[in-house]
Amino acid sequence: MTSFAELTTMRVGGVIENYHPFTSTKALVAGAKKIWAASDDWMALGSGSNLVVGDQPYVGDVLHIKTRGVTVKKATGKKVEIHAEAGEDWDNFVAHTIAQGVRGLEALSGIPGTVGACVIQNIGAYGSDVSETIVSIDFLEYPSGNRRTVMADELALGLRTSALKTGDLRGIVLGVTFSLEPVDQSRESSPLASEQLATALGLSLGDRAPIDVARDTVLRVRASKGMVLSPDDPDSVSSGSFFLNPIVPERVAVSFSPEAPRWLMEPEPEAVVVPLDGSDVPAPPPMAEGDVMVKLSAAWLIEYSGLHKGFSLPGSGAALSSKHALAIVNTGGASGEDVAELARYIVTTVGNATGIYLVPEPNIVGLEI
Ligand SMILES: Cc1cc2nc3c(=O)[nH]c(=O)nc-3n(C[C@H](O)[C@H](O)[C@H](O)COP(=O)(O)OP(=O)(O)OC[C@H]3O[C@@H](n4cnc5c(N)ncnc54)[C@H](O)[C@@H]3O)c2cc1C
Repeated sequence: MTSFAELTTMRVGGVIENYHPFTSTKALVAGAKKIWAASDDWMALGSGSNLVVGDQPYVGDVLHIKTRGVTVKKATGKKVEIHAEAGEDWDNFVAHTIAQGVRGLEALSGIPGTVGACVIQNIGAYGSDVSETIVSIDFLEYPSGNRRTVMADELALGLRTSALKTGDLRGIVLGVTFSLEPVDQSRESSPLASEQLATALGLSLGDRAPIDVARDTVLRVRASKGMVLSPDDPDSVSSGSFFLNPIVPERVAVSFSPEAPRWLMEPEPEAVVVPLDGSDVPAPPPMAEGDVMVKLSAAWLIEYSGLHKGFSLPGSGAALSSKHALAIVNTGGASGEDVAELARYIVTTVGNATGIYLVPEPNIVGLEI
């Protein structure tokens, strides 16, 4: 019997009692409808890189999505719409788009996982995320079994979240359509949106790099932090970043020393009410104190609270990555409970030191954090 320990990058989790792999979308649709008619206890599985599961046997149905296929749907000259089935490997897909001469995904090189799951938490890195390029998804809705196209604006894509992550939309992503931009002969990347990436390339924010160089640099920077899956890197036996970067009111952010990394969040644009009689549009109300929100670095808060890279609880198989304080790694033989215990310890320690309670990023099943 297969187990989550074999199918997740954290390598923890109990046996799966009802395992259903699907390699074609047709079989996936038929299989999901049959399973849903019999049971409400099911979950979709991609490549298990954002999933931490408890050690008890999982009694529900697991639909393992291994469907493949990439098609160019529409090419207008200015934009190319490319569709990929949900089970395609994300990084292979990114490499494919670059090889096809289109840009828009290169900053997201090296993120583990499947194309279908990229929607769930609106995967992002280096100033970019998939909300910028997703047009729509091919979706099998639960529990009706209706198959429909869901446009990007219905997905509530936000910072590591979506309507699928919050549960407002339930079902299976069967495929994703992206709108990408053809590169001209200069083969330049999209404008660089991350200071860290720009610095690594010896360029400035907003500059463009040769697209292959941009991808290689992203992969190199990610690998230096244990963020590229590699059998040679024990720090990549993880779920990536274990905690979300907290977003706090500005008055909380300024209570930390100036070296604390922080990013001002763009305020949500207010809906503009346009009078139909042609009179002037009223000025928006001034921003109230407390409206300005700031994103802090969870990794910085963890180290500030006294937990160092490599930190582990006595006798535990789980530890903070030796390269990046934001990742919890399985150092060998960790149980799901080892991971959860360390996560709880981090939440409490950071909470006591800073008053900020970190929230896990991965999907947690059968464990309390
Ligand atoms: C080393 C490492 C680095 C990482 N770096 C990043 C990063 O830079 N940025 C980032 O955003 N993430 C990062 N992650 C997290 C992870 O790679 C992404 O969240 C990825 O999209 C998960 O894909 P998956 O196929 O492995 O999903 P899984 O882990 O299999 O599933 C995740 C969730 O999505 C659901 N799901 C999966 N497929 C579908 C589907 N087709 N339809 C409906 N629901 C589905 C599952 O039920 C589960 O709830 C990293 C992870 C690791 C291990």
